[in-house]
Amino acid sequence: MRPSLHPRLINGPFDDPGLYIAFIFEKHAILFDLGEVDSLSSRDILKISHVFVTHTHMDHFSGFDRLLRLFLGRNKTLSLYGPKGFIDNVSGKLAGYSWNLVDRYDNSFSLNITEIHPDRLIYCRFSCRNRFLPETPVVEKPFNTVLLEAPGWIISTAILDHGIPCLAFSIQEKFHVNIKKDRLEALGLEVGPWIMDFKLALFAGKDPSSIFRVFDAKHPQRLISYELGWLSREIATITSGQKITYITDAVFSKANIDKMVNLAEKSDHLFVEAAFLETHKNIAEDKYHLTAWQAGTLAAMAGVRQFTIFHFSPRYTNQEDLLTAEATRAYYRIP
Ligand SMILES: [Zn+2]
Ligand SMILES: [Zn+2]
Repeated sequence: MRPSLHPRLINGPFDDPGLYIAFIFEKHAILFDLGEVDSLSSRDILKISHVFVTHTHMDHFSGFDRLLRLFLGRNKTLSLYGPKGFIDNVSGKLAGYSWNLVDRYDNSFSLNITEIHPDRLIYCRFSCRNRFLPETPVVEKPFNTVLLEAPGWIISTAILDHGIPCLAFSIQEKFHVNIKKDRLEALGLEVGPWIMDFKLALFAGKDPSSIFRVFDAKHPQRLISYELGWLSREIATITSGQKITYITDAVFSKANIDKMVNLAEKSDHLFVEAAFLETHKNIAEDKYHLTAWQAGTLAAMAGVRQFTIFHFSPRYTNQEDLLTAEATRAYYRIP
């Protein structure tokens, strides 16, 4: 199966956390955490449609200005999600600049902000045309764990304890559609934008007996009609989708463990912080962070296929092997 989600940590393990997830077939991306983002190219940043911020400690939110600078003047809407207090945090950032001329821009850039509470979501929009003044917030109830549902994927969240609320995120592809190129050729079809429409029809759960039309490769003016279910059996292999989970800045408490394991369950890839070694677990607890041992233990408890640790304390500079070895031992339950 050729994966469609390509996750990559944007910085080294001692630098600011952040996970960039590219949707390779759709030319767009999402971002978990918004610390230092200078390692991302402008091109990569401009592909981002949604940013999910775990909490607003500086190392997770200082990249907001670069993002804003790049998007300003473009006809786009960027959606940002964050924990309790997030609307005020964004408002404060925006209030740090003068906006007397932006309402004359031809293009209209807007920020859609969602603040996540245990029982509700609060939306607020800031738009360039309105000089980035907060528009009237809208409250939506109830809210449990699903934050966003797109045609092909779902984002879930858990609210963890980091002294302040800190969010963890998981993206789950609903299912994965692989196109059999040899069958396309046998039908005389060519790869084109219609493949995305075909996948979207499947993700939307359209009636298999409904008609799906494709332009004939040899006679581009002509449309060929297929029954969706028949076409799907002919040209597609459907397998379970990818799941990627991102957890950082959380204390190893009973309540957090339950939420983290639940969110990360059966992930294909878990990205989890490992700020300290287990010998320093008192410091980790004091600072509401995880140790490498705890990170590996969580990966094992959640039954993830693969995991990567990050967000190392600078006290372990040149000793990252110790953190990795400890997390690996915990994952394989080697004492
Ligand atoms: Zn933090
Ligand atoms: Zn942090």
